[in-house]
Amino acid sequence: MTVYLIGAGPGDPGLLTRRGAELLCEADVVLFDRLVHHSLLALVPETAELVDVGKQSGAAAGPRRQEEINALLIAHGHRGGTVVRLKGGDPYVFGRGGEEGEALARAGVPFEVVPGVSSAFGVPAAAGIAVTRRGVSSAVTVVTGRVGSEGSVDWDAVARTGGTIVVLMGMESRSDITDALVHGGLSPDTPAAVIERGTTPSQRVARTTLGGLAEVTLGSPAVIVIGAVAALGATAEPLHVVGPLDGCRVVVTRGGARAGAVLDALSRAGATALHMPLTTQAGPSDGGAALAAAAATVHSYGWVVFTSANAVAAFMSHVRDARALAGVNVAAVGPSTAAALRGTGVEADLVPDVHSAAGLVASFPPPPESGGPRRLLFPSADIALHTLGEGLSDLGWEVERVEAYRTVALQAPDPALSARAAAADAVLFAAPSAVDAYRALRGGDGAALAVPPLVVCSGSATAQHARRAGLTGVVEAAGPSPEALVSALAARWGRPSPTGS
Ligand code: SAH
Repeated sequence: MTVYLIGAGPGDPGLLTRRGAELLCEADVVLFDRLVHHSLLALVPETAELVDVGKQSGAAAGPRRQEEINALLIAHGHRGGTVVRLKGGDPYVFGRGGEEGEALARAGVPFEVVPGVSSAFGVPAAAGIAVTRRGVSSAVTVVTGRVGSEGSVDWDAVARTGGTIVVLMGMESRSDITDALVHGGLSPDTPAAVIERGTTPSQRVARTTLGGLAEVTLGSPAVIVIGAVAALGATAEPLHVVGPLDGCRVVVTRGGARAGAVLDALSRAGATALHMPLTTQAGPSDGGAALAAAAATVHSYGWVVFTSANAVAAFMSHVRDARALAGVNVAAVGPSTAAALRGTGVEADLVPDVHSAAGLVASFPPPPESGGPRRLLFPSADIALHTLGEGLSDLGWEVERVEAYRTVALQAPDPALSARAAAADAVLFAAPSAVDAYRALRGGDGAALAVPPLVVCSGSATAQHARRAGLTGVVEAAGPSPEALVSALAARWGRPSPTGS
């Protein structure tokens, strides 16, 4: 049992260290921050628990919240397994990683720090600014921009170093910073640069002066560089590579941290992804009693059939010893469900070539003529379509469906987000429930929200449901993987839209 405090780097997922990536790949629990890139979470095994402990700046960022995070880390540390605390940049540069380490040490929980590329140095570098430079600046001071709070910076002293000043968390107080440094003796004409969302595809750079900081319209997170070096270096604008989805605005409706892999694939392809989660997964309505009972008698079934990684995680959490499945056949609808099974030490006996309910039924064997159980267990979502169960019953199996998890609708998004969604070029639906949740949304005028012209559905069941609901422009992706969604959308994006669908 070790807790790993891992630095995620400033933004670009490529800047995670190899040690950090190795540990993420074997994590059992990951507690992550708001600034952590979602594609790093895609490295985590599907069965791992993802905990978003992201703190919003402002009121919610109080000491209470930090205490809660410390307590959570200690609790997970005591429970055992590989616990990862993933923090933006370097874990010990601001962001209170040091306190988390101390809290763990006090509680007797072993921990290891895996350093990361700090935004203080990585972000200016990626924007073409060298924070030290022979003959120009031989020192660099990294400070927090919180002015006037406890442990505040001695700005007069900082102004006198004559070197480069790198300010983190300084955007809100930038005019106070200007005043403090000018008071300390720096000229308002001292070059300054602001880099917002450095090392990410949405990086923006503003070159200005100390006196001009207040007028910069960029927002957080941003690094402010003050000093002669801020006027030097190539104006490294982020490379603009035209991807297959260039200019396409896409609404992603699935919830959960794993939506990140889809958002990431979309932005790599050049799309602007808008995350508007409409549904999320919750535990079964009976608290898991039926699932636990089924798991306890799993040896009496001929097969267990899984159609999602969620169902695998929910069911396997009730199986204490994988040997209980010895002699029971296991089917997975597709590769990601099979991978989730593999993560629990179970190799699927059947994965159909066509990753759908129909594909599974087509490749499923009939029950034994004599001897051997004819019962089949199907742990699934509460709203899973009946096609699979019916198809397997038609083959002669006694299908027992048990609720493994529920899909619940989230609160309606705020009106501004809904309005942007309605104006987008495409929307992605991962399940029929997402189609229903979107159609239940209302715009400011009380009328149903417009559906974007392209409706990309993962799987034929979702596509059929969307068409039956009267949606046009329905595109069916070959599966739920981010790649399949992107290529289905790319096949239609930029082409004259055919009439109907
Ligand atoms: N431990 C982190 C810093 C945490 S404080 C690190 O080493 O980078 C959070 C501040 O970091 C933000 O307010 C911002 O000033 C800076 N920051 C983090 N990521 C950034 C990015 N991609 N671009 C610009 N600034 C960033």
